[in-house]
Amino acid sequence: MISSRIERVEESATIKSSKRAKNLIAQGVDIINFTLGEPDFDTPANIIEATHRAMLAGETHYSAGPGIPELRTAIADKLRSENGIPTAAENVMVTPGAKLAIFEAMMTLIDDGDEVLLFDPAWVSYDACVKMAGGKTVWVETDPDRNYRSARDLSEYITDKTKMIVINTPCNPTGTVYEKDQLQEIADLAIDHDFMVMADEMYEKIIYDKKNYSIASFDNMHDRTITINGFSKAYAMTGWRLGYMDAPPHIFKNLEKIQSHTISNVTTFLQYGGVEALTGPQDELHKMQAAFKERRSVLVEGLRKLGLKCTMPDGAFYAYPDVSEFGTGEEITDRLLEEANVAVSPGIAFGESGKNNIRISYAASVERIQEALIRMEKVFK
Ligand code: PLP
Repeated sequence: MISSRIERVEESATIKSSKRAKNLIAQGVDIINFTLGEPDFDTPANIIEATHRAMLAGETHYSAGPGIPELRTAIADKLRSENGIPTAAENVMVTPGAKLAIFEAMMTLIDDGDEVLLFDPAWVSYDACVKMAGGKTVWVETDPDRNYRSARDLSEYITDKTKMIVINTPCNPTGTVYEKDQLQEIADLAIDHDFMVMADEMYEKIIYDKKNYSIASFDNMHDRTITINGFSKAYAMTGWRLGYMDAPPHIFKNLEKIQSHTISNVTTFLQYGGVEALTGPQDELHKMQAAFKERRSVLVEGLRKLGLKCTMPDGAFYAYPDVSEFGTGEEITDRLLEEANVAVSPGIAFGESGKNNIRISYAASVERIQEALIRMEKVFK
């Protein structure tokens, strides 16, 4: 009954861990939930007000498929001025969350049997989208002690079937921010071997001491890069489902076919909220950035005191400690939930390399993080 395309795909493992936590919470158990990548802040009021104004002004009809001109222009301006990407509004597609942008891009570019390079560990949905598009993921082994660069010469993974490489900077789950030379190596390989790059920069606003580089800004790379971004993490807008991608013109018109035959357009009035997010005051964003930075130190230093090996993440809001001294990532995930009432995700959800890790999302208050660290002593002492 079920298509092989879908049977190949497993349920998102992070959503599975979150469901388990939410079930216990519904039964009245006081669980500290560190499973999902969702800021605990509310969407800034100026964004909600702009959306409300748009609804009252009658912006409740279909919009152009790729998005309202005001938002596409605001995104293109941002990509040019902040990211140095040589683009224009006509290359920008507004999507219902970055997730659908990733799906649309894979469906547009990947044919049956095409290979997509993914650095292990990687966010859960890339591999699922590759499979849904009929492609095959080739996992690139990485070295955690070298900024999660390929452990071997990256060119060893390239074949005549290689169609795309996915990069995610800052990275979920490791928090790694790619160095400029790391990106240049990928860009050179993409040009030499003629494959595409998908650059997911969802967490670019949640970055601590490093600079994030956009590979689409490198020489000759805009033509072969799809840049993915969105509003969920930067502006605490997860439930809005508002994201976007920038793609070169020869690919863009094909992306447009999927969007026009599936969703038609992103909810029109929400797109005005997106314009406000990008062009309005950024004070709330700065407050959230400062809060994430404080939480990162409290959590990572606390985990280290508990005896865990944990690198200080450069971006995003996840700690990704190695728990191998105490058990496998899956065993520790179960024990933390059962013995300490702290819900985390097992690293294995992000690839084979994660079997000794857990991912802890620190999108929670400092008080909750401190409380969780106390509870964790039961498992780690
Ligand atoms: N990319 C990465 C790396 C993510 O972690 C997420 C969400 O968890 C997304 C994309 C999807 O974001 P959106 O809410 O815009 O669909």
